[in-house]
Amino acid sequence: MNRADWIKNTHLFDPDDYECSACGAKAGRPYDRCPNCGKEMCGAKDGSSWVDEAAFMDFITGGF
Ligand SMILES: [Zn+2]
Repeated sequence: MNRADWIKNTHLFDPDDYECSACGAKAGRPYDRCPNCGKEMCGAKDGSSWVDEAAFMDFITGGF
């Protein structure tokens, strides 16, 4: 298997980052190839980490 995906991690207070599904390397943007393992990337798919962070913010702010 020579292809992999970027897993997009969206953060509330930090810039988005992308994680290689093959080697786990993090990158600031979805390159055509992983700069670490060199696999060709098919694209990016959303991770779900922001859901937890948003729920946590609702909790500590009382949901605005
Ligand atoms: Zn990689």
